[in-house]
Amino acid sequence: MAIHKGMMAKAEEFVRREHKMLIDGHWVTAASSDRIDVVNPANGKVFTSLSSGDKGDVDRAVDAATKALKSDKWGKITPIERSKLLWKVADIIDKNADELAEIESLDNGKPYKFARMNDVSAVAESFRYYAGWCTKICGKTMKLSRPGPHHAYTIAEPVGVVGLIIPWNFPLMMAGWKFAPALAAGCTCIMKPSEETSLSVLRLAELMIEAGLPKGVINIVTGYGATVGKAMTEHKGIKKIAFTGSTRVGKEIVNSALGNLKKVSLELGGKSPVIIMPDAKMETAVPGAAMGIFFNSGQVCAAGSRLYVHKKVYEQVVEGICKMATQLKVGPGYKEDTILGPLVSATQHKRVSDYVRSGIAEGAVIATGGGHIGDEGYFYQPTVITNINENMKIVKEEIFGPVLAVNIFDDIDEALRMANDSDYGLTAKVWTDNLSTAHYLVNNLDVGSVSVNGGGPPDNNMPFGGYKQSGWGQELGEEGLRLFLNQKSVEMTL
Ligand code: NAD
Repeated sequence: MAIHKGMMAKAEEFVRREHKMLIDGHWVTAASSDRIDVVNPANGKVFTSLSSGDKGDVDRAVDAATKALKSDKWGKITPIERSKLLWKVADIIDKNADELAEIESLDNGKPYKFARMNDVSAVAESFRYYAGWCTKICGKTMKLSRPGPHHAYTIAEPVGVVGLIIPWNFPLMMAGWKFAPALAAGCTCIMKPSEETSLSVLRLAELMIEAGLPKGVINIVTGYGATVGKAMTEHKGIKKIAFTGSTRVGKEIVNSALGNLKKVSLELGGKSPVIIMPDAKMETAVPGAAMGIFFNSGQVCAAGSRLYVHKKVYEQVVEGICKMATQLKVGPGYKEDTILGPLVSATQHKRVSDYVRSGIAEGAVIATGGGHIGDEGYFYQPTVITNINENMKIVKEEIFGPVLAVNIFDDIDEALRMANDSDYGLTAKVWTDNLSTAHYLVNNLDVGSVSVNGGGPPDNNMPFGGYKQSGWGQELGEEGLRLFLNQKSVEMTL
């Protein structure tokens, strides 16, 4: 039986295969015969399965990546040859964009049109952006202050074998954000996609091999965090972990990485504030704040989940967002008119429902939404909650669903105090038409990224990362490349 009406044959053929893992250029079965069911979030039905890797598979992948690191076909090629390979990866992604978007939409639940327009294009662009960096990696020469003729300089070198661990909300995009700079730097990689959404990453890896990446340069080990992820973070042969996921797991990774003090970069959770000032243009601020939380069904690290509205425009904003929430079409990702897909899993659906229930129990009021939709799958209504206080769990903790908590403020410093009163510090959004107000807020918000009067997804050229418990280090831009480079200082007495 077809997975859904109109599904592209090529995508269907891929998802129905027996999925293996990529180690040393070969598609291999895991050492254990255990499988992980893959569930369609739109109907709750299992449609395929993944290899459940373990420590032995990670060992094999690390051996392959270690061999490849200094190999003639990778470690010894010139920067321009690395650059060409990354461009080829980008081109092959573009060529197979429809199929990749179908796989992503089916596996994660997100609308096909957004997967195609945003996620797949973004991953191709990450490879192009970092292809440009391969030929610009360099050290510096320095003058030393002590007497004597010296020649002193630095060399930028790849960190080595790196472990890349990614979440389920933007599987392809997160894979691109990690693979592209790691490869540009000359590292070799072991990637562990989320056990919820590994399919698009497996297909991406096939395409990367087709583009010409030599064996062992990229390896994919599928499986659970507690087995594969933990084995990677503890592995002495892995010199760096680049992780995107929850703050809870980020802390576990730091502990596991202590064994060989491997380098760790962390892109973690968020509870991003949105501030709407009374002078903001309501025709952009209201839909901007609505889509800032509802896009991708709220499963976005940078989702604007706490909204602070000035008392003069509070009623108007809440009414506008509630109206939009009721009009957004919720449905399976493959339907053309779908704007919001299901939540990724039954676990995520329960998590979101439990948070909303806890808000009600603590005295919050549901202005719209607040419940499950449909007879099958993990659909949840876009939800707006008012009458909150800043100590409620729904305000303090990351829900990772389409749930917005709204509060009111009298003056700008009250808004800032509430916005900054969070363990997280990933992003913030500001809506105002006053330049001085915009600068004042930007300078005083305790977060890694601020957008004023709207903005798109993170740009490859702009560093992205969190303050406080939202992470360590920044991805994208030159900073993203530096995460995968060591700097060697050399001093010669002449
Ligand atoms: P998660 O932390 O549960 O899992 C992320 C990855 O870590 C998965 O591949 C998982 O299998 C693995 N993992 C789990 N336990 C592990 C362990 N002990 N050792 C090593 N790996 C382990 O996160 P999730 O539920 O997949 O994704 C949602 C979270 O990701 C949210 O908190 C969201 O904010 C965050 N996120 C952050 C960014 C960012 O750029 N800051 C981007 C996307 C998502």
